[in-house]
Amino acid sequence: MLVDSHCHLNFPEFSNDLPDIIKRAHNLGIETMLTVNTRLSEAHELQKIADTYDNIFCSVGVHPHESADYAKPGLKAEIIKLAQHPKVIGIGETGLDYFYNNSPKGSQIDSFGQHLDASIQLSLPVIIHTRDADEDTIACLKKYPAAKGVFHCFSGAADLARQALELGYYISFSGILTFKKAEELREIAKFVPLDRILVETDSPFLAPIPHRGKRNEPAFTVHTAELLAELKELSFPHLAEATTNNFFNLFTKAYRAKCVL
Ligand SMILES: [Zn+2]
Ligand SMILES: [Zn+2]
Repeated sequence: MLVDSHCHLNFPEFSNDLPDIIKRAHNLGIETMLTVNTRLSEAHELQKIADTYDNIFCSVGVHPHESADYAKPGLKAEIIKLAQHPKVIGIGETGLDYFYNNSPKGSQIDSFGQHLDASIQLSLPVIIHTRDADEDTIACLKKYPAAKGVFHCFSGAADLARQALELGYYISFSGILTFKKAEELREIAKFVPLDRILVETDSPFLAPIPHRGKRNEPAFTVHTAELLAELKELSFPHLAEATTNNFFNLFTKAYRAKCVL
């Protein structure tokens, strides 16, 4: 069994064939999925998907790209309200993206802080998106030492990985791990302790090799997990079991449910 710890099942790329996609994932042993919120206006869409499928959970949060629209004093309260839904198991994705800077830095930092605050109050882990913002990301996290969570779709440098681990965070690897140029990332994967690793697709984006360039989907978690097993010199079932246990250890509100199709 594997968990796709980060996908976006409400995105338009999946609107025509979601049941098929969930079935394909299930057939390959990916039973649990976490579909991640990027705009609060879509939180109810995600909750509807999670209500339809027993084995799919969801989060509440604002992507750093969208923070300009949401960073205001009431954001934390809104997150807390939306997180009352029984299938909401995490807060995010939130964080800082200075590569695209689609929203002003100030609004990204404000939004990130309110998410961290909400996550502590709710005792739910935070799902962190960070790109080209290592220093500020770590500084924000240090202000909220009680928070816990995961650096999703990790693509940073070894130093960031070490700092994240030191602060107690998990690190999630996506299809990027399989890309030819990701040599440094593969070296990072070798030193991240086995009990801190998650796997994800971030679908519909970033399809792993051999599907690179196509639409990504939860079934493709297998490719990232296969490579990780190789890097960690473990059998595939061993790697799958460890990352699955890690997911349930971090996302304590989630439960092991059977896929009902
Ligand atoms: Zn992200
Ligand atoms: Zn994402």
